[in-house]
Amino acid sequence: MSFDAARLANAAAATLRAYDPGHDLPALRRRFGATLAELGSNENPLGPSPLALDAVRAALADAFRYPDPRGAALKAALAARFGVDAARITLGNGSHELLMLLAQCFADAAHSVAFSQHGFAVFPIAAAAAGAEAIVVPALPRTHPTAPYGHDLDALATAVRADTRIVYLANPNNPTGTWFDDAALAELLARVPRDVLVVVDEAYHEYVDAPGLGTALRFAEGHPNLIVTRTFSKAYGLAGLRVGCMISHPTVAAVLERLRESFNVNSLALAAAEAALGDRAHLERVRASNRDERAWLGAELRARGYAALPSQTNFLLLDLDRAAAPLERHLFAHGVVVRPMDGYGLPHTLRVSVGSRGENRRLLEALP
Ligand SMILES: *Cc1c(COP(=O)(O)O)cnc(C)c1O
Repeated sequence: MSFDAARLANAAAATLRAYDPGHDLPALRRRFGATLAELGSNENPLGPSPLALDAVRAALADAFRYPDPRGAALKAALAARFGVDAARITLGNGSHELLMLLAQCFADAAHSVAFSQHGFAVFPIAAAAAGAEAIVVPALPRTHPTAPYGHDLDALATAVRADTRIVYLANPNNPTGTWFDDAALAELLARVPRDVLVVVDEAYHEYVDAPGLGTALRFAEGHPNLIVTRTFSKAYGLAGLRVGCMISHPTVAAVLERLRESFNVNSLALAAAEAALGDRAHLERVRASNRDERAWLGAELRARGYAALPSQTNFLLLDLDRAAAPLERHLFAHGVVVRPMDGYGLPHTLRVSVGSRGENRRLLEALP
């Protein structure tokens, strides 16, 4: 008799599918070596602050000890940076973990969780893992002047039901790159009841420069149900070390503490993140580089007939008006890794990270 544990999986695990990286990166690295342009995961081409690397080396000597389960030093640094009490900060093994924990702590089969079509992939997984019903709100149309495929905050507020516990938003959103402004968020917060948690994922906040687009943190005062997540994976260049944080009402943080794994953020990551946060000059270089390269790459792509959607992030979504898979395979064959978007219901688009000038040139040269 054959054994298949899938039969034994609970309802959530039975419905979910495993993460599909879309390509075999180690194999591509072996094949192309240093000429491989890795533009598939929105990583920072400048890497982390050198101070973060020094901090990791120093922390290695104590790596035989468990990390600080409270992450007190990093929390204090973040609290000072955001101008909030440290009791409002929760650290995660990447912000992914925090987005998952929120659903696990606040929703179950009796509840619903709302998010936008073409929203960040973790939102539906978090809802399903908690056993909650997902309310997927249609995105704005392709023809929308400023946010094609973006979040429709009016529709999201309307979709909230009596059993809704969480509304997940990403601003700017991945994979669309689009954003909503402070005024739209203020209106949603005014319309949504206080016992619905509004989670604003600001993973790309450091790359933002559009007028009217600040941080949701400015609304924390009047809205205890507002939760903001940030990450060290993008502009801080520490994706491999896995650190994210959440800023929330202290009682939200206290509930998450009950399910959070005690040592969820490792000691190297804690040290690196604290040092990275302190290096403002490096962050400014990263932002300036991304601003210039995003504008340059976007213009070069458009000049070649590729419709790059507006972006406030470190990536561009190319809308091809045809299946994207052949172009994706062509680019792989030429040593350029980009990201297919079938899983997001956007099979006619490709997501391209903004790389260094050299990587961006390789992408342009590899285009058919
Ligand atoms: C990359 C990304 C994150 C970061 O996830 P980590 O787990 O912190 O690496 C979070 N949200 C969005 C929308 C992202 O694109």
